[in-house]
Amino acid sequence: MGTTTSGCCFPLRGSQAPTGPEVQLCENCKRLVLTEKEVIHMARTGMWEIEGYEMTDSSPDFPKLKESAENGCDFCLFLRNTLLSPEVDFDADEIPRIRKTYRDAGHQLLFHRAGYRMSIYDEGKLWLSFEIWIVHDATGDMELLPSLSLQDPPKPRVAPSQNALQSTTNLFLRQAIERCDAYHDKCKVGRDPAFLPTRLVDVRDENAVRLVEGFTIVGGDDASSSSAPKYAALSYCWGPRAHADQQLKTTDENIGQHLFEIPMKGMPAVLKDAIRATRELGIPFIWIDCLCIIQGNLQDWEKEAGSMHKVYGSAYITLCPTMSKSCLNGFLFRDPPSIVFPYHSLNGQPAGMYRIRFTRSWIWKMYLTVPHHPFAVDLISGSWVRRGWTFQEAALSSRMVLFGASATHFHCRTSRVTEGEDTETSVSLDDLGLFPLLPSTLSGDKLDEAWKHIVASYSQRNFTKHTDAIAALAGLAHRFHSLREKDEYCSGMWLSQLHEQLLWRRAMYEGISWGWFFNLLDPELPERVLLHAPSWSWIQRINIDYQYIRDSVLPTEPEDDGSDGHGDMSITPSPGLTDETLRLEWRLPGKSGDESSVVDRFMQFRGQELEITGFVARFPLANADKPLEVDELREADTNLFWKWTISGQYFCHTNWDFLSYTSWDRIDKGEFQHLRMLLLSSGRGKSSGEVSPGNAASSDGNISENGDVEEDDRTAFGLFLFPTIKESENGKFYRVGTWHSFCNGKGGFVRFLQYATVESLVLV
Ligand SMILES: [Zn+2]
Ligand SMILES: [Zn+2]
Repeated sequence: MGTTTSGCCFPLRGSQAPTGPEVQLCENCKRLVLTEKEVIHMARTGMWEIEGYEMTDSSPDFPKLKESAENGCDFCLFLRNTLLSPEVDFDADEIPRIRKTYRDAGHQLLFHRAGYRMSIYDEGKLWLSFEIWIVHDATGDMELLPSLSLQDPPKPRVAPSQNALQSTTNLFLRQAIERCDAYHDKCKVGRDPAFLPTRLVDVRDENAVRLVEGFTIVGGDDASSSSAPKYAALSYCWGPRAHADQQLKTTDENIGQHLFEIPMKGMPAVLKDAIRATRELGIPFIWIDCLCIIQGNLQDWEKEAGSMHKVYGSAYITLCPTMSKSCLNGFLFRDPPSIVFPYHSLNGQPAGMYRIRFTRSWIWKMYLTVPHHPFAVDLISGSWVRRGWTFQEAALSSRMVLFGASATHFHCRTSRVTEGEDTETSVSLDDLGLFPLLPSTLSGDKLDEAWKHIVASYSQRNFTKHTDAIAALAGLAHRFHSLREKDEYCSGMWLSQLHEQLLWRRAMYEGISWGWFFNLLDPELPERVLLHAPSWSWIQRINIDYQYIRDSVLPTEPEDDGSDGHGDMSITPSPGLTDETLRLEWRLPGKSGDESSVVDRFMQFRGQELEITGFVARFPLANADKPLEVDELREADTNLFWKWTISGQYFCHTNWDFLSYTSWDRIDKGEFQHLRMLLLSSGRGKSSGEVSPGNAASSDGNISENGDVEEDDRTAFGLFLFPTIKESENGKFYRVGTWHSFCNGKGGFVRFLQYATVESLVLV
């Protein structure tokens, strides 16, 4: 085991550490200390992996760390306190795998592979993170990511202030809002200055807050104009049930009391901080769901849920505590577990200190490339961005303040800026995957592409109730509908684009069996079962992906879409698939009552049917070779494509909603005899040179010999359908997967038509 040069410097005492803090470290932790040598190494290679840091301990008490801490090691103390802190607790609530490992007794955990990593996030600015990998044999790798940030190393970047709304922050925010008001005309679109929500919380009186009814205060703030007074809106997480139960709520019983005064005593911290922030920004009112919607009153809830696009869309600003994990967590005081180390260069200057702060794990979305900017880090390390309901609250807002663990950020439809930085970043559709605030450039031909990004991002969110998945998107659907009034919203998709939007695939296999899936679709089952939506809808499915379509066909416009480019996240122009169905009819279930109301139109999904006339083929299983599993995107957990050949010649790629390749040998092949392949659309295929390297159609020798694309051929896309089990539903089908067939591999549109006949099918 090697010892780094820094090892001999510790513990630092007296004159050896004139400006640094005192730390004592055990022999193991001495290896973690960063010196000039490592900084230089990182400047060259981007990272420095620490040799020899290794230790085994057991949950839930971590006795080895405890013993070392009692013997004086400050880092072992920090690490143990962090593992036992509520920070990790909350992660555990969201990711059961971690809760089990950290909390259940007797798990042996191996702490190893510590390292520093340096990433550039902006011109001349660096993000330095420190990681320790904690491995548990039974569940695979997990990471704990305490991190620190440096600017122009080795001079430390100023650590985040503990007060998230100090006077400089207040000034920063007021200036950002003024700039938005003065120069961003497009940020005002959709904000109705005359609108006020049904109820608001009045914070003007320093000593008391109370609920007010919107109609009683119209014009009351500013008699000289016709505009209503300003109000803020809050977008936050209620948190785990035990915390949500302690939430302060307006009910039918206490609304009279709340209109007189809302008791501050016992008010959850997130509400207190929101009220304080509203006052300090000089805004007289704030809209908070738990107080402004009568909780437990279904009629009031439905009415208010249907007007969320107005509530958030017309708010003066939306406050967003990304670091609050539940309503019990305030957001104006930052206090994550941290430890300070001294820093010395070899000749004594510069000298100073650096801090390692715990930031939350990035396990969520870990397969995405995320820029190392404090804005992105604050988002993905918090709970807010994982929750379903907060998605449209951001998407509908015209501008937001985000209170993050490392900084406070301002984000409007035109640009975003982080406190302490001078660069304003203009926002584009590219950012929708990370943060859903709709950019002002959203219009016309970009709507379809944006909607697919929204679905991909939204379907990764968590819901306490699966049935909320459509309700929490209703306001956003309403906003889109206002931009395309002739279109219809069909259970999470748009009628005019169904030939493409029906082609969603699941980017992760979730371990549900095919047979179980059919059972869940039985309409006779009680309400509480998982799936209520039609099988062709992505609503209530998770991790939806459309990217594979774009990867399979040529864009219809030049590659340069005018965006400044964010690597993997950039939106190329829509591939513009051609609708190949002959007739497509969308049917709502027959029912009495007003079906055109906002609530029904955007929150309805049960019982919807599609009747499609088009080219249909039986799946030629009898002639097909054993399928091959392909990992086209080379990402963990996304290897859900199977490639089919017939007598060695390429036929198509398939992606099953509920089949894992590992279970192929156990699958009842008889069921495949009933499968139908329905052609939905086609697109101009890339020639072999243009297909991405990871694409199996070009990488495994199945392209045609000269690699040419026949002019009349196209890549074909469609659905796999399976007949419903019930006799009374004769002729009705469930969606069970998607298929696409590359023309340049000598599958494609023309080849498919050789197998197909025209049929009419009903999808349920
Ligand atoms: Zn130690
Ligand atoms: Zn703006």
